[in-house]
Amino acid sequence: MSQPADGLPPLRDVIERHGIDARRTLGQNFLLDFNLIEKVARSAGSLDGLTVLEIGPGPGGLTRALLSLGADRVVAVERDRRCLPALAEIGEVHPGRLDIIEGDALTMHPGEIAKGGRLAIVANLPYNIGTQLLVQWLSGEEWPPAYESLTLMFQREVAERIVAEPGSRAYGRLGVLVGWRMHAEICFDLPPQAFSPPPKVTSSVVHLVPRERPDPCRFADLERVTQAAFGQRRKMLRQSLKPLGGQAYLEAAGIDPTRRAETLSIAEFCTLARTLESRTTRS
Ligand code: SAM
Repeated sequence: MSQPADGLPPLRDVIERHGIDARRTLGQNFLLDFNLIEKVARSAGSLDGLTVLEIGPGPGGLTRALLSLGADRVVAVERDRRCLPALAEIGEVHPGRLDIIEGDALTMHPGEIAKGGRLAIVANLPYNIGTQLLVQWLSGEEWPPAYESLTLMFQREVAERIVAEPGSRAYGRLGVLVGWRMHAEICFDLPPQAFSPPPKVTSSVVHLVPRERPDPCRFADLERVTQAAFGQRRKMLRQSLKPLGGQAYLEAAGIDPTRRAETLSIAEFCTLARTLESRTTRS
């Protein structure tokens, strides 16, 4: 797709006409090449019958691709009001298919956007809140969640932590929380020059699909355990998990207290989370 057949101007013209010079405080690194933008949108799979929640549409390149590739509806949440007139022009050429919400994505709940229909989340995320948003979307009490998939751009280093396996250097709290509830894969990388302005590092598109039946445990317990364990990742668990009960706690969970956090599988972390729950509800 060199340019969607929507009759709208190239993105450089849109940005210039609406004065959307990129602001670092809003994590603005815009994608301008429609071939790459289409590749990001296609990583979400078929969009037929789906409402897409897009976080941070900016001047609307990805929004245009999602609509052209057949999403039923796009709900675009943008904090920068300078982008709104450009987005309104996209809405005019796709009547009834684009809802623009001016606001902070951190305050939005996918369930309220889905309204019981099928939802996917697709975004070139602002890097400063990307991890926070992902963890928020993972943390809901209801599972499976309101969305069918997440297709998100992260810094490569964050993407590696998202898909990390036990024993690897990148394995930590994020990899456990994600791997517990999601299947996650890195689709492809984008070099800094793909963006305007170019960020300092390589970016990656990650596709995540909720697991139907994750190992049962509570998000808050898993978060507490992983935070303590990886907070002192070089230490033995009996030391790093001392605030949660140390040796006795690990023995109750059937985990060797001399092991280190990065050697534990996600299933073992879930066992620790369940043991924590039973010990805290007992006391
Ligand atoms: N989607 C566009 C693209 O691919 O070129 C822009 C992506 S840019 C990396 C991130 C976008 O998120 C910016 O448009 C920025 O204004 C917006 N943004 C930043 N913080 C936000 C927040 N808390 N809620 C919603 N949008 C936000």
